Amino acid sequence: MTVPVDLARPLADRFGRVHRDLRISVTDRCNFRCTYCMPAEGMDWHPRSDLLTFEELTRVATVCVERFGFDSIRLTGGEPTVRARLPHLVEMLSPLGVDLALTTNGSTLTTMAHDLHAAGLDRINISLDSLQPERFAALTRRDELPRVLDGIRAAVAAGFDPVKVNVVVVRGVNDDEIVDFARFGRDEGVVVRFIEFMPLDAEQKWTSGSVLPSAEIVAAIDAVFPLEAIERGSDPAQTHRYLDGTGAVGVIGTVTEPFCSSCDRVRLTADGQLRACLFATDETDLRTLLRSGGTDDDLEAALVATVAGKWAGHGISEVSFTRPTRSMSEIGG
Ligand code: SAM
Ligand code: SF4
Repeated sequence: MTVPVDLARPLADRFGRVHRDLRISVTDRCNFRCTYCMPAEGMDWHPRSDLLTFEELTRVATVCVERFGFDSIRLTGGEPTVRARLPHLVEMLSPLGVDLALTTNGSTLTTMAHDLHAAGLDRINISLDSLQPERFAALTRRDELPRVLDGIRAAVAAGFDPVKVNVVVVRGVNDDEIVDFARFGRDEGVVVRFIEFMPLDAEQKWTSGSVLPSAEIVAAIDAVFPLEAIERGSDPAQTHRYLDGTGAVGVIGTVTEPFCSSCDRVRLTADGQLRACLFATDETDLRTLLRSGGTDDDLEAALVATVAGKWAGHGISEVSFTRPTRSMSEIGG
């Protein structure tokens, strides 16, 4: 199907930011329990009937693409690959012709990478926060480092290029592995990207002191493998190439170098709530709209209204900052 994007109009907010990137959380559930994301026990999962069906997700995505010219969709969660028949959702979204990406913890990719690629997935980001088995097990509460490493290799073998590996750096927890990760990326032919720890952890352990600024991360790598910054554009990641030509590495400075002024994202939670920002404190209930006979015009109006209320920036460093009531796994990272 060819989408008539020429009929689309830009979904702009009051600061002139045009939104073209939809992040869809396909489940709030996960097979890991990363300490900075979820508590060990006691997560209150949404009942299955709360989750948007593949048809409902595809409908929202189609409105975003056809009415507003969205050009990228990312599937995330929770752990998106624990949602049954994920490759089928990819098949349903693929005809929209947008850049279709997935964020995953990598634990199921040995069996799924090929199917996801064949279904039309364009890009894959895999999260990995330690290369040390014991630390990995402590961080994720699952002893599965070898599976994730095999998953990364399976993604490369399936033809995803580049495969990106996202590392959340927490000061005093894994900041001694920055150069090891840089070496890992160079050796494995994957692009490692370091992400600053954000105040979205379910257990609320975040403090500003636990954030390792991107500038420090770059300096640590540059001291061992000299780097040169690549012009950034609107990408939240600042990419640096290795001067010896062995690939690139990125940093995402959400806290110390916010990219809010060029943000082009809206998010759909697994239970069908639309959010204009990861840190938003309000949501628009698309699930009720979808299930009560809402038309595509109604969906269009809901998108316009949600984005109209978007704020200029998350303001993490300001005293007035209020943490969202949901954690990253519920909103969709
Ligand atoms: N389960 C998948 C995964 O781990 O890749 C997708 C969902 S996860 C919520 C998406 C991303 O959010 C992961 O890269 C994870 O490391 C990151 N994340 C979760 N909590 C975070 C926090 N408090 N600060 C920064 N990144 C966080
Ligand atoms: Fe699961 Fe991803 Fe959260 Fe880890 S970061 S607990 S893998 S959703």
